[in-house]
Amino acid sequence: MPMASRPTSPGSASSQRSVRSYMREMSQGNGRSSANQKRRLTVQDFYGDGVTGCLMQGRYQTDTVYAWFQKRHIANGKRLIDDDGYCRIEDEDGTVHEWKPPLGIRLAMCHKLTRPHIVNAEPWYVTFHYHGKRAKKYFQSLASAVIYVTTKAQYVDPHASIVSRHGFDIPARLRGKIPRPWKWCPRCLDARKFRRVGDQTFFCRIKTWDAKKGYYVWPERKLLLMECPVCGITNRNHIFRRSNQPWSLRKLGPRTRLRKKKDK
Ligand SMILES: [Zn+2]
Repeated sequence: MPMASRPTSPGSASSQRSVRSYMREMSQGNGRSSANQKRRLTVQDFYGDGVTGCLMQGRYQTDTVYAWFQKRHIANGKRLIDDDGYCRIEDEDGTVHEWKPPLGIRLAMCHKLTRPHIVNAEPWYVTFHYHGKRAKKYFQSLASAVIYVTTKAQYVDPHASIVSRHGFDIPARLRGKIPRPWKWCPRCLDARKFRRVGDQTFFCRIKTWDAKKGYYVWPERKLLLMECPVCGITNRNHIFRRSNQPWSLRKLGPRTRLRKKKDK
């Protein structure tokens, strides 16, 4: 990492002011240059930190910049996805491309971004089979990935998928409704059939219903290691484990909340 790109203090007033002016120029799109700014900034100019230069520079990690990314994400989601769930894009020659993203992707487009989705330069990728190999193309925004699949990748591989490198929990409406042997994949944002990874095993606690006790218990079990055939996430991932556990509703009454600890 070059010394010149080391972050200054993120919350300083000077950095807040400079970022606001940069964002104003970007949103207005007038291309005017200020004394310190010789050219119009692009999104890639915010990145450059970390070992590989793929992290956002510390001086840009402010509420103003985060809000701009959130606004762009939500606006693109509303613009790209029609009411019937399809993404339709018309080419310059009049060809209309049409693709229906999976439910998880459509929900993610309406969902707020988490911090890892903003501070990483390429938090999404599109994967597809090309000449017998699995290819990947990385993207900064989910909207760019959806446009790429709609206009290009779906014609190369009809099963082209968008993968989030930072997992999402299962949507509330799908909890407990994914039939076996499918499981919720937190990175594909879709249901997948997981496959075994050789004979590898691991130990973990499993949420199981105890009929005698009448409540869930967490005994330790030995499990086979399974992986998603598309993104490679395994069943050892904590978001996978949380999403694919049995879900139950617990009603909290006044007595539950007012329960006092026993005196020692
Ligand atoms: Zn997956």
